Amino acid sequence: MDWTRRQFLKAGFASAAVLTDEALALRTLQPVVGVDNPLEVYPERGWEQIYRDQYRYDSSFTYVCSPNDTHACRVRAFVRNGIVTRLEQPYDVARYADLDGHTATPAWHPRMCLKGYTMHRRVYGPYRLRYPIVRKGWKQWADDGFPDLTPENKTRYKFDARGQDEFLRLSWEEAYDYIARGFIAIATRYSGAPGAQRLREEGYPEEMIEEMHGAGTRTFKLRGGMGLLGVIGKYGLYRLCNSLALLDANIRGVGPDEALSGRTWSNYTWHGDQAPGHPFVHGLQTSDIDLNDMRFTKLHIQVGKNLIENKMPEAHWFTEIMERGGKIVVIAPEYNPPATKADYWIPVRPGLSDTAIFLGITKWLMDHRKYDVDFVTGFTDLPLLVRTDTLTRLRAAEVFPNYRPALLADGPSFQVQGLTSEQYARLGDFVLFDAAEQRLKPITRDDVGDRMRAKGIDPALEWKGKVTLVDGAEVEVMTLWELYKIHLRDYDLDTVAEISHAPKDLIERLANDIATIKPVAIHYGEGINHWFHATLHNRATYLPLMLTGNIGIPGSGAHTWAGNYKAALFQGSAWSGPGFKGWVAEDPFSPNLDPHAHGKELKAHAYTKDEEPAYWNHGDRPLIVNTPKYGRKVFTGKTHMPTPTKAMLFTNVNLINNAKWVYEMIKNVNPNV
Ligand code: SF4
Repeated sequence: MDWTRRQFLKAGFASAAVLTDEALALRTLQPVVGVDNPLEVYPERGWEQIYRDQYRYDSSFTYVCSPNDTHACRVRAFVRNGIVTRLEQPYDVARYADLDGHTATPAWHPRMCLKGYTMHRRVYGPYRLRYPIVRKGWKQWADDGFPDLTPENKTRYKFDARGQDEFLRLSWEEAYDYIARGFIAIATRYSGAPGAQRLREEGYPEEMIEEMHGAGTRTFKLRGGMGLLGVIGKYGLYRLCNSLALLDANIRGVGPDEALSGRTWSNYTWHGDQAPGHPFVHGLQTSDIDLNDMRFTKLHIQVGKNLIENKMPEAHWFTEIMERGGKIVVIAPEYNPPATKADYWIPVRPGLSDTAIFLGITKWLMDHRKYDVDFVTGFTDLPLLVRTDTLTRLRAAEVFPNYRPALLADGPSFQVQGLTSEQYARLGDFVLFDAAEQRLKPITRDDVGDRMRAKGIDPALEWKGKVTLVDGAEVEVMTLWELYKIHLRDYDLDTVAEISHAPKDLIERLANDIATIKPVAIHYGEGINHWFHATLHNRATYLPLMLTGNIGIPGSGAHTWAGNYKAALFQGSAWSGPGFKGWVAEDPFSPNLDPHAHGKELKAHAYTKDEEPAYWNHGDRPLIVNTPKYGRKVFTGKTHMPTPTKAMLFTNVNLINNAKWVYEMIKNVNPNV
């Protein structure tokens, strides 16, 4: 066949195109490399360099994140070009030890939270305060010579509209100068008889004015917020407070023997770390556990608490209960994050209506005889006899002629719990009815559990009768158990459902779970501890646990959580000196300026007096009530009497956030401060 040149070229291009397409097709179909195990072969890794560049760092260091949540997570910061570029958890809690060699276990991982991970963004963020600022109106007040805060002046200097004022920048020297002049002006204004008269005219009750003892410095309220999380810096405010004694000495011309400084505002109690009902139940301040105790819990009841969002690095102990086969019950008004993990959620009306639930469960357990008799008789005070005429416990000395106190000097009350002879003299021994011998028997506070049984004591739970006292009087007595039967009459499940709005079947289900599962733990939070009737709530939570022996074994108990024990604290001791007190209350009249001085050489002397900020949050007044029947009654005792608040200095705490009834504080109370 004759081909023209044109035909030849055309055919050649076509063949080449086919070949090229086939080659391409083959290349696409063929594996790039023969790979048996893709996990071992990763041929193209060049792109990773981008990330290596991004994550490259020049140096790193560790620190402890120590905000108010008290989790104290150890963090590693990575630095590049002098800037912290990222924060990570080092996963090393099992690798470092305390001075005695104790380590935690890796089970504490993971730690940290999203706030901790982004702390450096706050440090470098545009809203970080990097220099002193002063409210414009306050500066003008100072520049005008601190005139009286009459209603007109409160408005002129915006004491009644602080939020609408603006801030001015100061140098540190100017800031110190303004603060010092403000201190002098306020302390002078409220010192001595003229100061007392001024406070009287401002409407403060005499009890508060008397508590001033003539010292204007007593109107200063200082709070080192959550100071155990940074004792030197935060509790430095308490040291400053103590030093105000120097100012008082200068203003009133008194010596160290009469000088008084400011009031130190509390932390633990007012903002809710303290579960107020706990001391009522067991005499200890608060039951506050490490949350790894949840590993042992088989029934976890979470009431008004959000372990998921508020206890971030410890929340895994809670969620792991599911893996360990435990049961979770959440009591809360809203379907909150912990409720999403629960086996069942008991919705309730807000306002601690759950108190009724625990009282109802207690009644159900008693009525259905679903309690641990050995535990109740051996470890609770429910068998003790109470006089119905005085509602006080029957004392052994009241009923046994010539009774001699029987507590042994080498027993746990004196040797372990630190009971003093004076305290024991007030306390005395108690009385129960012995079921086996059918007679009254004395019992000491050491007679619990096996110790009690070794003495042949067999307490009756259900008993009431008349007894003749040593003075010949006859009184009715009954066991605390009998009294609780009366007290709980109102708490049948229908009534409890009506009070709490919780479904009756769920309350009964919980009662049955408490009766049949062990260990049981009940956890509640600071929100609950804030309530005025939190005492009743806390006590009610203990009752079902007392009935079922769910106290004193791992995974059991009723707990709140503050976690302050995680913070470092330098304790006072015979060999170290006053410790913490040497910092917050070193005598300002006798400071030790030797940087090499031993701690024992520091002289501590407190010129301060503690005060509960709750009084500031109560209209800056103590609890005084004009009763219809008894007239004016002062319910605040002398030990707790507040003084008027004229200066507030605080750090690391949000007082307005802690306070109730914020409008009242901003509108009516703080304009006087
Ligand atoms: S939980 Fe978060 S904020 Fe709290 S200490 Fe740990 S990292 Fe810091």
